Amino acid sequence: MGLPYANGPAHTGHLRTYIPGDAYTRYLKLFGYDVVFVCGSDTHGAPIEMSARQAGVSPRVLVDKYHKHYLRVFEKLRIDVDLYGSTEEQYHYEHVQEIIRTLESKGYIEARKVKLPYCPTCKTFLADRFLRGICPFCGELARGDECDQGCQRYLDADQLKEPRCVTCDSVAEMREARHHFLKLSMFNDFLLEFNEQLRGTAIARNYALGWIRQGLKDWCISRNLKWGIPYPDDEALTLYVWAENYAGYISFLQEWARQKGVDWKEYWGKDGKIINFIGADIVYHHAVFWPAMLKGADYGLPWAIVASGMVKVEGHVFSKSRGFYTLVEEDYVQNGIDLDAVRYYVLSYTGHTRDLDFTWKGFQTKVNNELVGILGNFAYRTLLFNYKNFGEIPSGSVKETTRNEISQAIEKIKEALSSFKFKEAVDRVMKLAAFGNTIFQQCEPWKSIKEDSELCKSDLYQCLQLLKAIAILVNPAMPTVAEKIWKYLGLTGDVHQAGVEDSLVPLVSGTKLPKPKHIFEKIPDEKIEKMTQILEARIQKALNQS
Ligand SMILES: [Zn+2]
Ligand SMILES: [Zn+2]
Repeated sequence: MGLPYANGPAHTGHLRTYIPGDAYTRYLKLFGYDVVFVCGSDTHGAPIEMSARQAGVSPRVLVDKYHKHYLRVFEKLRIDVDLYGSTEEQYHYEHVQEIIRTLESKGYIEARKVKLPYCPTCKTFLADRFLRGICPFCGELARGDECDQGCQRYLDADQLKEPRCVTCDSVAEMREARHHFLKLSMFNDFLLEFNEQLRGTAIARNYALGWIRQGLKDWCISRNLKWGIPYPDDEALTLYVWAENYAGYISFLQEWARQKGVDWKEYWGKDGKIINFIGADIVYHHAVFWPAMLKGADYGLPWAIVASGMVKVEGHVFSKSRGFYTLVEEDYVQNGIDLDAVRYYVLSYTGHTRDLDFTWKGFQTKVNNELVGILGNFAYRTLLFNYKNFGEIPSGSVKETTRNEISQAIEKIKEALSSFKFKEAVDRVMKLAAFGNTIFQQCEPWKSIKEDSELCKSDLYQCLQLLKAIAILVNPAMPTVAEKIWKYLGLTGDVHQAGVEDSLVPLVSGTKLPKPKHIFEKIPDEKIEKMTQILEARIQKALNQS
């Protein structure tokens, strides 16, 4: 899964990729696949060196702070990675340097003399974000490595017009320097073929094919930065962060395998399928640079790239500089927002590749109407009625209609996941809860308990069995909710260990039921007003600063 950059706190944009990545992995495990899920902090590059300088601390202090932050946030959000590593770890350094040496020995890397922007005042070469200028394609202000505010094109420093040093604003001059280039042009045909058969979301494949057909330029993989992984045998330079960070997927897997005493090659390459979950903004790196490096160094290639769509906040394109973002820890955690509900919102708002608009009003509506109104309502009324009247799972057996409904839900979820349609999967679980509500309503247990208690028990048994299936099937989307329902059903063992087939294993009559509580709480208007004010203050502050 794409690595969070250890340069700032977790925000709305991160949720967009990490929640579906986690839910998908949990579904795979539920369906019996042997999955390893790794992620870690991306800790190098010019932005971190620059942020550290601005904060007056060393880059290591900065990345340590955010590394701990992401560990904490992942735990809160229940993003259950098997290993959360860091590209600052020694094992990652060694692994990356080995990849580079292999690429060099095979003739895929070449040292060349190039002219690079240099600041005569600061007496240093200006890598990436230490340089600003005008984009030659769209005329917007752009960084040394990409047109970040305009057309989003990946740029070379010598393409920028009117280049200036970010630190002192001197006009940059071009000076000769020696750098290392990956001969990307040698991979053109391979990359076309690779992307044509790549699975995952169509946006990843289509973006990449468009770029490759335009022809690829050789790619500079070294930098004049102090903070980074030393370039093998050329220690005046460090590796470009985009030439090493995604190698973390393998380093972290290797580290996980080492700790478990298993062979990492069983998972990477051979029969193992590699699936990358990323944001749409890093498709270029994952569909072009990364597979070229893997191919060149003889590693297994990704089977699928799943790229998430755009993120909006209150109808505006997500923007850190303009204040259109929400923060996981500061906003959600510190204000007691139900994080399972946040997971639900992200998964069920829209399809994975479409624009996700996060609005506090929309969040309130979804929670109150769907989670409280459908799932919470079905769970609570079923559990409470049984608890009050029987105190245990009543006598009964799973009827054919109940069995069919659960089996169909399982089939639909499986089908949706095979094409990375997470919304469809989650919606299908909610449909099961709506079906349960209908049954409860139709059988009118408050009447039948007086008239025909055996019939009443049999009907309620169906509701409880549906609830058990829901706990299992909703678990990948909302793990905390699943644990609650599981407990209130009087079930022992761990819902996370349950397989999909357990949904149809009949509940044992006579099992004691504990006193249930509501699964969700309605979000009052005042809460939404407060959260909206926090966001508005952030937007205002950004406006004042610009
Ligand atoms: Zn541009
Ligand atoms: Zn300067």
